[in-house]
Amino acid sequence: MSGRRILAKIQHLSAHLLDPGLCLGCAHDLKPGQYFCSTCITELKIINNPCWLCGLENQTSGNYCAACLHRPPGWQKLVAPLNYQGLARDLLLQLKFAESLHLANSLVSSVIHRFQPSKPAPEVLLPVPLHRNRLLGRGYNQALEIARTLSYLLDLPVDTQALCRIRDTDSQSGLSASQRQKNIRNAFVYQPAKPWSHVAVVDDIITTGSTAGEITKTLHRGGVQCVEIWGLARVSK
Ligand SMILES: [Zn+2]
Ligand SMILES: [Zn+2]
Repeated sequence: MSGRRILAKIQHLSAHLLDPGLCLGCAHDLKPGQYFCSTCITELKIINNPCWLCGLENQTSGNYCAACLHRPPGWQKLVAPLNYQGLARDLLLQLKFAESLHLANSLVSSVIHRFQPSKPAPEVLLPVPLHRNRLLGRGYNQALEIARTLSYLLDLPVDTQALCRIRDTDSQSGLSASQRQKNIRNAFVYQPAKPWSHVAVVDDIITTGSTAGEITKTLHRGGVQCVEIWGLARVSK
């Protein structure tokens, strides 16, 4: 077993040890290994028949929705199982702003089946980096916490060094899609120690896709051929 895998196992087990056996939605008692009671699990809305490129519900019988066939995004695949509303939204806000790091493990474990069919699997997971100032303020990167659980459950390495955020951009919340694109332009650099050709960029929430689009451009320029975007939740239009 590699050092990385041992570390991931310790982190995963400690998350379980800290798990008080209570539903994350309503604090009801649970059986070991469960995160949500039978009522709250139905509150976590998983997006049905998602488009493979934008993650939104696809009304067609193919893999891609009409909008993506007409104007495909830059990346090659997008997976973001949860609809960003209700309980999923509440828990992701706690993960992002209230240091509830155990939620990364619980939420990823609840929807891991949506990430498994990705074949061939990416070579590596690249968490969306925070700027150093933001990381110092918050103390952790929620995207890295999510990537760590995905790494353990799917046995994929995480590279935290290759992708850096060099501009301390304003928060994207409250901005329109075009303002988001402008705000995030040239915010990242990609300098891998080892060249990757197929990666999954990991984030918590996919909103308009402007951050994912900017990172995809940076990665393609750096020689990555296949970019997948993996988020826990997708904001519906
Ligand atoms: Zn519950
Ligand atoms: Zn689509």
